[in-house]
Amino acid sequence: MISPRPRFPMLATGVAPKKGSLTTKQALLTLLIAMLISGVAGSIELLSHATNMRQETEQRITQQLAVVNGAAAEAAFQLNPDLAHQIAYGLFNADEVAWVSIRDDFGRALAEFERPKQADATWLSQYLFGDILHHQTDLAYYMGSDMPEAVVGEIELMLAEGYLTQQFLARIYTVVGVSILEAFILSIVVIAFFHLFITRPLLKVHAAIAQTDPNRPGQWPKPMLRGHQHDELGHLVDSLDHLLNAFQQGLEQRDQLHHLSNMDGLTGVANRRHFDEFYQQHWHLAQQTQQPLSVIFIDIDNFKEFNDHYGHAMGDDTLRAVAKTLNQCIDPARDLLARYGGEEFVCVLPGQDHDDAVGVANCLREAVLSLAIPHAFSSTHSELTVSMGVASMSPGFSISAEALIERADQHLYHAKRLGRNRVETRKRPA
Ligand code: GH3
Ligand code: MG
Ligand code: MG
Repeated sequence: MISPRPRFPMLATGVAPKKGSLTTKQALLTLLIAMLISGVAGSIELLSHATNMRQETEQRITQQLAVVNGAAAEAAFQLNPDLAHQIAYGLFNADEVAWVSIRDDFGRALAEFERPKQADATWLSQYLFGDILHHQTDLAYYMGSDMPEAVVGEIELMLAEGYLTQQFLARIYTVVGVSILEAFILSIVVIAFFHLFITRPLLKVHAAIAQTDPNRPGQWPKPMLRGHQHDELGHLVDSLDHLLNAFQQGLEQRDQLHHLSNMDGLTGVANRRHFDEFYQQHWHLAQQTQQPLSVIFIDIDNFKEFNDHYGHAMGDDTLRAVAKTLNQCIDPARDLLARYGGEEFVCVLPGQDHDDAVGVANCLREAVLSLAIPHAFSSTHSELTVSMGVASMSPGFSISAEALIERADQHLYHAKRLGRNRVETRKRPA
């Protein structure tokens, strides 16, 4: 049976991850790792993009300058500003060119275009493009096959640092944005898988343990983890099952030993040890709760003679029969009957006052009489009888635990002196 009140707070399975839960930790860790990886990958990509962009720009400008070199040389040789303007304008048309100038061999500008200043140089733009901004090429004019080429001027060109940096930053934003998106998607997928395949089964195991009655660990609601029978989670559940069953066996053995250590071997009723514990515990309880408590001492009359004449084995059987009969007069759920030693028994009656106890004592005496065990050699009666001493503790009247026992014993002594087969409760004059 399962305990109705679990010892630990229940954890529902399949609930949304709580703060501090395994899933949340896993989510944060995954996100961190994914961001880190995408950060490193993004940086590498940006670095390679920066290198490519520099190479491509340089290549493109060099090519453009090479293409226009002949026409520009012609313009410089003829000192033709219109042609020079057309060529310079063609170069200037590209957004990445900030300034272009075509000059003759005296340094006079035939054509010049300059864009208004757009953005100040930054450390980034300087770092990335600072060394490839400036381009200058001599204009070589072909004079004939037998003459060397003559330098008739130059083209000078400055790239727009701000424009190049803007292009680069636009690329950065795309790369970073995509990386973050990738990291999030990856994290969500990993978290979902982790929660489904690890956290949820673990929560099931935890809920099962939380529901387990600590007194019956072997009857725990072993969770069935579908798809995990042969993996670590399945092994964990099997190991737990094994452990809890072993624990159950240990508890049963402990209970058995405890029972045996409290039981009298001959009669099966409680032994002296158990009586001492029970009596002390209930005496304190009675003191605290201001409840009455009664004790009855029971001694078989002339039992030595019984043994002497009927034999020890018969004596043992009789002791067993008497114990069984005495047990029927008390409430085993509340009272205790114990073998005090030899042929003496004692009854502890928690919550019962003097009159109740006398009633129980009379019941006990009559029950033994009703057994009608012949005792032909008794000096007082022809059948087996018992004598009893009753003592009670009433609320408000203080008496020590030892004194109460002593009083019951004294009353038993008087019962013996007054002829046996009787119940004595009050001190009488000797
Ligand atoms: P009284 O009426 O005054 O109680 O006399 P009594 O003979 O019962 O008392 P006494 O103390 O003289 O003798 C008790 C006897 O109980 C002695 C012993 O032989 C017997 N006895 C004690 N324990 C056992 C036991 O475990 N088995 C058997 N068969 N006899 C026992
Ligand atoms: Mg006796
Ligand atoms: Mg005795």
